[in-house]
Amino acid sequence: MLMANGAKHDCEANIKEGAYIMIEHSPAAKRTTEEYIIMTLSGGSCLGILPFAVLRLLQQDWAVAALDVFAVIATSILFCYVFITHNTKTPARILAFLSMFVVFITVSLKGTEQLMWIYPALTAIFFLLPANLAAIYSVVVLSALAWVLRSEWTLFLALEFYISSSATLLFSYAFADRMRKQQEQLFELATKDPLTGAGNRRAMEQKLLDILAFQRREQGYPASLILMDLDNFKQVNDNYGHAKGDDILAAFVQTISQRIRATDRLYRFGGEEFVVIAENTSRKEAINLAEDLRSTVETDGWLAEHGITISVGTAKYEPQETAFEWLGRADQAMYQAKDLGRNNCCVA
Ligand code: GH3
Ligand code: MG
Ligand code: MG
Repeated sequence: MLMANGAKHDCEANIKEGAYIMIEHSPAAKRTTEEYIIMTLSGGSCLGILPFAVLRLLQQDWAVAALDVFAVIATSILFCYVFITHNTKTPARILAFLSMFVVFITVSLKGTEQLMWIYPALTAIFFLLPANLAAIYSVVVLSALAWVLRSEWTLFLALEFYISSSATLLFSYAFADRMRKQQEQLFELATKDPLTGAGNRRAMEQKLLDILAFQRREQGYPASLILMDLDNFKQVNDNYGHAKGDDILAAFVQTISQRIRATDRLYRFGGEEFVVIAENTSRKEAINLAEDLRSTVETDGWLAEHGITISVGTAKYEPQETAFEWLGRADQAMYQAKDLGRNNCCVA
């Protein structure tokens, strides 16, 4: 876009670069860690149990054969379900239950010779369920096994089993808990802007991709972009120093975050430019929200003391347009607001 003074604004380059990243990160190509875990565990269990199912059928050991065949069918269905739908929550719970159920029944049918299956099952459920829930599950199943095997066990065997299974339980708990926390930290690092706590550019691009994908399924679903640029921010830095400028950006994000709805998302697009993505929001609602944000910034105590104002451009998603075009229209509207003398809202 050409600005009034003829200089090409860097926002266009920003959007183009963003659009390039968007093409590379197609959502269909991605699988989450949870999907990989469930697919590995269900696929591995299916292939691992299959030979035993065949063996038991050949041996005409019908009860265990039926259990093994059931486990093979159930795990393959879970694998396919996650592969096709990308849903993980319910399959993870079913797989956790299934692994404990199959171990419990097989030990009930065959006795202590089947006990070693508890170890992979104990490890698996910590990757499928929240750590505390998995720990409760494990204690319940280990107690149930003690009850089932009470007549077969010597004190030594019982001690050996419970110490080794408790060690497996503890290691799995510690490892799964650590892994989850690290995953959360990595997710924050990858999606949040460190200075302001707003979503970063990468998170914004992912959100736009998600909305466009949703638009293809549910045409006419209203979604709006509100692009905000702090006015004369170079001057603000010159007046108060760069460190104070940073504080102002962080305070600005706090103010906007308190004003938007829980379903709206705030992202730092770059420098002193921010974007609110408001889903399920009509053009009129987006205009009202934009004006509300503008006047909030103008009158907010600390921001107002430093003379902070914003110019705002709003654009509702139009069918068939790309994320680049959508952002471009919001950018144009924002520049109209600048041309009107700043501290203004314009709509595309
Ligand atoms: P306009 O009203 O036209 O938007 O004027 P402006 O001065 O805000 O626009 P310009 O693009 O010329 O300058 C943006 C300024 O924002 C320059 C840059 O130093 C400052 N800025 C960008 N990122 C940060 C940051 O992370 N911290 C601080 N303190 N300043 C930043
Ligand atoms: Mg600015
Ligand atoms: Mg700017």
